[in-house]
Amino acid sequence: MDNVTEKLFQCFGHRKFKSELQERAIRAIARGVHDVYVSMPTGSGKSLCFQLPAMLQDNKVAIVFSPLLALIKDQIDHLSKIKINAESINSKMTSKDRERVLNDLRSMKPNTRFLYVTPEQAATGTFKSLMEHLVKYKKLSYVVVDEAHCVSEWGHDFRPDYLKLGNLREQYKSVPWVALTATASAEVAKDILSNLKLLLPVAQYKTPSFRRNLFYDVIYQNCIDDEVGHLTEFLKKSLKEDENVKPKDKNAAIVYCRTREQTEDLANMLSKRGLMCLAYHGGMKSSERISVQEKWSQGEVPCVCATVSFGMGVDKASVRAVAHWGIAQNVAAYYQESGRAGRDGKPAFCRIYYCRSERNAVDFLLKSEVGRSKTPEQKNRCKVAYKSFEIMVKYCEDIKCRHKVFAEYFGEEIPKCGGRCDVCSDERSVRRALDQHQRRASS
Ligand code: ADP
Ligand code: MG
Ligand code: ZN
Repeated sequence: MDNVTEKLFQCFGHRKFKSELQERAIRAIARGVHDVYVSMPTGSGKSLCFQLPAMLQDNKVAIVFSPLLALIKDQIDHLSKIKINAESINSKMTSKDRERVLNDLRSMKPNTRFLYVTPEQAATGTFKSLMEHLVKYKKLSYVVVDEAHCVSEWGHDFRPDYLKLGNLREQYKSVPWVALTATASAEVAKDILSNLKLLLPVAQYKTPSFRRNLFYDVIYQNCIDDEVGHLTEFLKKSLKEDENVKPKDKNAAIVYCRTREQTEDLANMLSKRGLMCLAYHGGMKSSERISVQEKWSQGEVPCVCATVSFGMGVDKASVRAVAHWGIAQNVAAYYQESGRAGRDGKPAFCRIYYCRSERNAVDFLLKSEVGRSKTPEQKNRCKVAYKSFEIMVKYCEDIKCRHKVFAEYFGEEIPKCGGRCDVCSDERSVRRALDQHQRRASS
């Protein structure tokens, strides 16, 4: 047992690393040679990646940037419970408290192991002189940027203050930096590296996108007689299960639609065909939305027809099917939305019911956004959005392993699909269907 595995148990009470990737990231951060980028899904134990290495360096403190005071509080509370000294400097604390923290940090041997701050704090005079001091006296182990996707305009919660962190990185080059996020997209990763001005070469630890338990396929709506019937059968088949599971663990499904009307229409039609289904969209009262989400999570209603606002923050493990009615906005969104299936690791199905008129509708929307955009940044954003959409169209209209499309998009090695998509399991049928689709669509 080396000192890394020793600390894992001693300080955090874990006997094993959560994954090989977690261990490799921890060891790289502990070596402290390079800046490190970590992209792993929510819940995979990213905090430990920077918390454990810090425990190997006595009398040093790690600065952790985190976007919200609430998140900071959670982390500090958790660390206090396991007897690790973590502090924060923020606008909400009393000046006495602040002095206490600062005094400790300015002492020769600080007790504080982690200093949590929001990026806004980084701009204050207090913080700047503290940073200066810590670097000068070599008391800083490293700087951590948690939820690093906030630095990217492609991320779902861009925070302009994160951009200022890049200047800090440039100013103090002697201390390694660590950036962590759950966002996998290549665009966001690129932004994180360049906006935070991380020093090259950056050691990168990323969970591969390939998920073997998910079967991906595309069905062309104009090649089937009864689209809703086809969808009903698909969902019913995917949802089949043993009788005696707890309601909470019951199999569930999501059908993503583009518009509110579609969610309601489809939910009605599916229910009429004997599959209990509720609609969910942004136009509903928030109490209604919560109630739908709960009924679905608790296993009272197996299926929800929803706009893409559904699913953020829900972590139901037993989602057996995710269908997209029409097309998805882009590959990153599709990967994320369909990826809500099979979190329990058991087989699950991800399917697009592709249709040209839906493709054209999205196409039209994106093009009109380009027309409406005024600043060069807006224009550029729209262009990239349109390009991402084109890759999504190709996903549907090309004969190429679906998992391969994802891997290429995320800049990864091509996985061995092993028949986990329609193209790899039965290419001839896919080719036949696509031919038929194209003939019918153009006639
Ligand atoms: P993330 O930031 O990636 O979403 P967290 O760091 O919040 O994930 O960790 C999620 C959970 O996993 C926490 O409850 C944490 O204690 C636990 N965890 C992390 N590493 C290990 C490990 N090696 N063994 C067991 N549990 C772990
Ligand atoms: Mg986290
Ligand atoms: Zn494949």
